[in-house]
Amino acid sequence: MRIFDPHIHMTSRTTDDYERMAAAGVRALVEPAFWLGQPRTSVGSFTDYFDSLVGWEPFRAGQFGIRHHATIALNPKEANDPRCREVLGVLPRYLEKDGVVAVGEIGYDSMTPEEDDAFAAQLALAIEHELPALVHTPHRDKARGSARTLDVVRESGIDPGRVAVDHLNEVTVGAVAGSGCWMGFSIYPDTKMTAERMVHILREYGLERMLVNSAADWGRSDPLLTRRTGEAMLAAGFSDDDVDRVLWRNPVEFYGQSKRLDLGPVDADATFEGNSILRGGS
Ligand SMILES: [Zn+2]
Repeated sequence: MRIFDPHIHMTSRTTDDYERMAAAGVRALVEPAFWLGQPRTSVGSFTDYFDSLVGWEPFRAGQFGIRHHATIALNPKEANDPRCREVLGVLPRYLEKDGVVAVGEIGYDSMTPEEDDAFAAQLALAIEHELPALVHTPHRDKARGSARTLDVVRESGIDPGRVAVDHLNEVTVGAVAGSGCWMGFSIYPDTKMTAERMVHILREYGLERMLVNSAADWGRSDPLLTRRTGEAMLAAGFSDDDVDRVLWRNPVEFYGQSKRLDLGPVDADATFEGNSILRGGS
């Protein structure tokens, strides 16, 4: 089983997790920019983090043969802090980098006017930089949050086929299915969505535009739940090809729209120096 995890926050995970993921079949992943737990107080904290998403983390992943890509954005939670909003001005520089395959994660946390502004501004950046957009939906008041999210996406003029709306569940999937956007599901140990519930959703809505991720982050989470979902699909009668479509070909198709996915073999002898990965032997 080959696995592409389209949404996982490796910054918050240990190197042992990379090792376990590689053993479970994870060959590629996308790490969206998000918050750091501790609130940021300046733009410098964002730029160091973004640099690590395009430098250090790809190196750490590469040691286990995993291809690492990133999405870059001001996350919805920190869009409410004026000290953080200034980062919007430095995003264009990062959105041009190799390995950055979307603008994200953007969207709503508490649905404030500040979040409205940051969301709309960053959808405009996605259009301008010809990148897909990864959209987070709020964990509270999910139905209203998703409906408003789809309104903002529609108003932005971005092609819905270049937008993934994430953290969906049984309540919110229907509206997103009808919108033409991609549907993302975060499989968690005890909240959001389980592998078994995911299988029911795939039965009902089909495999097209479906993305399954572990979203593993600072909370209780498990980077191997993508694999568990593949196993649950097989146990429920889906074929190996169906599993490959959901866990590999779909995320490749979605992020491939950036024209920046690199899924070739990783240079296992590379070293990390200064701010960048050096090829083995060089
Ligand atoms: Zn996330």
